[in-house]
Amino acid sequence: MKCPFCSASSNHIRVIDTREVVNGIRRRRECEQCKQRFTTYERIASMNLLVVKRDNRREEFDKEKLVKSMRIACSKRPVSSAAIEQAAQDIEASLYALGKSEVDSLRVGEMVMDHLQDIDDVAYVRFASVYRRFRDVDSMAAEIQQLQERKRREEELKHQFLLPIDEE
Ligand SMILES: [Zn+2]
Repeated sequence: MKCPFCSASSNHIRVIDTREVVNGIRRRRECEQCKQRFTTYERIASMNLLVVKRDNRREEFDKEKLVKSMRIACSKRPVSSAAIEQAAQDIEASLYALGKSEVDSLRVGEMVMDHLQDIDDVAYVRFASVYRRFRDVDSMAAEIQQLQERKRREEELKHQFLLPIDEE
């Protein structure tokens, strides 16, 4: 924050009064450099995000729960807890960025799958298998095949870029 009058940096700005108002906090401030006074408001962002479950029940979004389910998918895999924590944070941020008060649990699951896909193949398939409730082994096999296909295309693309441009 800078002084709106003389642009002095925040270490020159002193809070002289703090008051709680509806949905936020009002602070009266004084700039030590130019002695001007001004008011700032801090709004408390509404952080309520409800996840709509399959049976239409609503549940408060819980990042820890997300971390837990990803940990289960990643158990005994070479995945650091920091990577899981980071993924959960990214998912949480993306969910809030949707700007909605309710989000479908399917959407959350898709986001988890997107992240796990980049983190660990086995964890991804594990999560996907539970999440999508594979009815039989065939659909699981199809999922794995799709994954392998994707990896193969990525590899191909990589090699294309590695080819010397003037090679005949
Ligand atoms: Zn000032």
